[in-house]
Amino acid sequence: MPELACTHLDQVGDVTPSSNGCEDCLRIGAKWVHLRMCMVCGHVGCCDQSPNKHATAHFHEIGHPIIQSFEPGEDWWYCYLDDVAFEVDGARSWSHS
Ligand SMILES: [Zn+2]
Ligand SMILES: [Zn+2]
Ligand SMILES: [Zn+2]
Repeated sequence: MPELACTHLDQVGDVTPSSNGCEDCLRIGAKWVHLRMCMVCGHVGCCDQSPNKHATAHFHEIGHPIIQSFEPGEDWWYCYLDDVAFEVDGARSWSHS
């Protein structure tokens, strides 16, 4: 099995999604394009195509480096520190309903 390019998987927690939408957009009444879920704490935030980029903002504010797509049919993960996207065999796939 190839080594994952990301070395931060030990930070991944036993998470559940904090919300079914971007929790920060919901608070301020903003709209988002796609959703990402923090795999360290379960924070759900919006993607970089969204006006408020709350998933990336969460990384800058809290320092949690790993997200998974929260879109149906997408299983990819991304690490901000390594700037690499990858998939994790056997990991649960999360998505909003
Ligand atoms: Zn990493
Ligand atoms: Zn947002
Ligand atoms: Zn987090």
